Amino acid sequence: MTHPIVAELGQMLPEGGLVTDPDRLAPRLLDARKRMQGQALCMALPGSTAEAAAIIARCRAHGVAVVPQGGNTSLVGGATPMRPDSVLLTSDRLNRIRQIDPVGYTATVEAGCILDDIRTAADQAGRLFPLWLGASGSARLGGLIGTNAGGLQVQRYGNTRDLVLGIEAVLPDGQVFNGLRALRKRNAGYDLKQLFIGAEGTLGFVTAATLRLFPAERGEATALVALPDVDAVLALFTAARESVGEVLTAFEMIDRHALALMARHYPVVPQPFAEIPPCSVLIALTGSESDTVLNERLAALLLDHGLEDAALAQDGKQTQALWRLRELIPSAQTKEGPSIKHDLALPISAIADFMAESTALLAARLPAAKPVVFGHVGDGNLHYNLSLPASEDFAAAEALANRLLFDLVAQYGGDISAEHGIGRLRIAAADAWHDPVERALMQQLKQLFDPAGLFNPGVLVADAKAPRTPPTSGD
Ligand SMILES: Cc1cc2nc3c(=O)[nH]c(=O)nc-3n(C[C@H](O)[C@H](O)[C@H](O)COP(=O)(O)OP(=O)(O)OC[C@H]3O[C@@H](n4cnc5c(N)ncnc54)[C@H](O)[C@@H]3O)c2cc1C
Repeated sequence: MTHPIVAELGQMLPEGGLVTDPDRLAPRLLDARKRMQGQALCMALPGSTAEAAAIIARCRAHGVAVVPQGGNTSLVGGATPMRPDSVLLTSDRLNRIRQIDPVGYTATVEAGCILDDIRTAADQAGRLFPLWLGASGSARLGGLIGTNAGGLQVQRYGNTRDLVLGIEAVLPDGQVFNGLRALRKRNAGYDLKQLFIGAEGTLGFVTAATLRLFPAERGEATALVALPDVDAVLALFTAARESVGEVLTAFEMIDRHALALMARHYPVVPQPFAEIPPCSVLIALTGSESDTVLNERLAALLLDHGLEDAALAQDGKQTQALWRLRELIPSAQTKEGPSIKHDLALPISAIADFMAESTALLAARLPAAKPVVFGHVGDGNLHYNLSLPASEDFAAAEALANRLLFDLVAQYGGDISAEHGIGRLRIAAADAWHDPVERALMQQLKQLFDPAGLFNPGVLVADAKAPRTPPTSGD
């Protein structure tokens, strides 16, 4: 029998505001890594904040779960509804750029706007919105806020938390929190908008945000540099911060195994080195200076440090090709076979020691797993993925790898999640590895905002009523 909430929402919402067709629901119920198969009564698509508030109020009255979803690119299953009595609440129809203020350098944007579109709108106004990641063509603002997304330019511009000035959100009880301010300075007690950033849809449904914009960049210089080891990577990072720090936008490490996977699965993407080096770094400078000046500064940095094995992009096409080498690594690893993925945060100065110790530990305890390490080393963020032969017991290997790496990361003062969040995938790990006082405070906050436990239950903090999600397979 159809749940009465479905008929009620159907009467309440305009055409296009409700989806019950299983074929249209199906792609929204499977998570981006294809590890979690969700279920939902229906998908509601509010077209305004008032509509979102009305939907949420009705869901609360019926006691059904509400799961916010944007582009469904979460890598930790944060947007997948698991309870059968769930309404999937998507931001697709909240897709207006409400205002761009070129003088105040702000954009007020609805939660369903896709990141690429926000970047384009800012660009057309002669401004820059610097958030940029592999999923920029699909991820929506509400999801980026929900996960406090990082990406490829955090080194220079910070993560989503640093880019949001104001938030409008519907609370689990249907009230609207109107924190949509464009103020750079406001000192008025608790900064409540920050609670929604990184909350993974557990405290409310974000409907719009006011974002910080920056001056448009006029020039860029990009290079891929071959290096002998991780110590040399960190030495170059330190030197780069000293000499070109104010224009250093990205500093991405790629290890030997990642480039080897790229050569195998994406031979069309050119690799600049005669032999694959142990480590390489993609370094990007951007700023108000011309390409020529930035190229000269980058070349001088490399020359000063005797780094001759480096490919400096000569034009936009070559720049794009270098970025493709970095961006397609996760996809190359998927083509290779199963892999255990980690998104580790570390103090930058500990990365070399961590890499040496973790490599030795895994070789001894889990020799079948081959580390493929790349990522935002300038932000202390390693995507530390382990390729595994298909014949291995994935669940057992993943459990062991998690235990070994999370213990080690804790010893180095790091964390089990740098930018992907906790979602459903990392709840048990957060309970085990995070400070119990911190976890208890999060539970209390959740209780304060959502005493009925209906907003994205089972994500970020455990929910007794929601089934824990057993991972099904690796990708
Ligand atoms: C190819 C690829 C590359 C990626 N690269 C990066 C990267 O470099 N850096 C990075 O940080 N992440 C990266 N990710 C992860 C992912 O793109 C980000 O987490 C992104 O922010 C999610 O946006 P989304 O719109 O898809 O959100 P969804 O996946 O739909 O949702 C993510 C979370 O936000 C919540 N949410 C969604 N909408 C709302 C809303 N309106 N209000 C409140 N909560 C909401 C959901 O409930 C869920 O918990 C990548 C993912 C892929 C597939």
